Amino acid sequence: MIYLDYQATTPLAPEARAAMLPWLAGPGEPGFANPHSPHRAGRAAAAAVEVARAQVAALLPPGGRVVFTSGATEAINLALAGSGAKRLAVSAIEHAAVLDTARFLDSEVEVLPVDGAGLVDPDVAIPGGCGLVAVLQVNNEIGTVQPVEALARRAKEMGALFLCDAVQGAGKIAAPEGADLIAISAHKLYGPKGIGALWVRDGVTLAPLIHGGGQEGGLRSGTLSPAHCAGFGAAAALCTSLLETDQRHVEKLWTKARTLFDGWTLNGSAIDRWHGNLNLRLPGLDVGRLLSECRNIAFSAGSACASGSGRPSHVLRALGLSDRDSKTAIRIGFGRYTGDDELEQAAAAINAAARAQGVI
Ligand code: PLP
Repeated sequence: MIYLDYQATTPLAPEARAAMLPWLAGPGEPGFANPHSPHRAGRAAAAAVEVARAQVAALLPPGGRVVFTSGATEAINLALAGSGAKRLAVSAIEHAAVLDTARFLDSEVEVLPVDGAGLVDPDVAIPGGCGLVAVLQVNNEIGTVQPVEALARRAKEMGALFLCDAVQGAGKIAAPEGADLIAISAHKLYGPKGIGALWVRDGVTLAPLIHGGGQEGGLRSGTLSPAHCAGFGAAAALCTSLLETDQRHVEKLWTKARTLFDGWTLNGSAIDRWHGNLNLRLPGLDVGRLLSECRNIAFSAGSACASGSGRPSHVLRALGLSDRDSKTAIRIGFGRYTGDDELEQAAAAINAAARAQGVI
């Protein structure tokens, strides 16, 4: 199987897995203790959690704290609901974790448009009285990188908090500056599934969503998993040390991919984009048929969450594409462990399947 779905999830880095194993210990071994227990074994587990917290914090701006959660969806829910903001403004191309939560909390949520390249205008009108603005750093479907620093400044001028969903950018590009709240997820940066974090700027107060034992400074009750934290931390540390190597590798793959998929139309800006995301369309393409004819390649139609729903992507619709054109898109995502040869083989198979449909 050739894995080209890095926006859905990334492979677990071997170093992250190795960091997790000591904390998945059984009877008679050290390493299974509750990190909130005061005995020696518990303190050792707590120390591992704090090492991981520092490793994750190194991906994020100074001047804030990292609260571990079950993933980015929970981090986003904590940020949006916990802020207590009554009026919300979110970009039209947010992940469902932001869009649906914002709609749940504010039935009149303001949706900030994007242009045909999939970018929010840094001077977009933010309605007065808005308590929180959310714009993601890198879009999960089309990879466009948003002008979050400028937008965070604007939100601040308006007296609103700024939430940045940095799930697709964390560990790959510099952290967004100026945000008050940043959500990230381990499984998008070569860590384990089931853990994420909310970065909270110092001085920003939130109400908890989950009540109980008062862990995570009272913001997120529940016993932490030292294994998940250690895996997340090791993956984050690896992203820090491999940042430039990973970026160079992705740039090389991007250049190759653009020639391999010559003749396809790129959805979203080619420039303001994370180059590990290639979202392409072909007029008249039957994506369902293409996916079933290329079963040995893991890639997707739109996002992992939306694919299978049959609904046209809200992201491609926001770019101005018709329902019909939105349904002719595929997303190819690559990263650290993708080989040149894998990309070549996948492109040959996908192009052959598209040719068989007579659309190229
Ligand atoms: N935000 C973005 C941009 C995503 O791509 C995802 C995952 O698909 C999420 C949020 C949700 O993250 P998690 O799977 O950690 O809940």
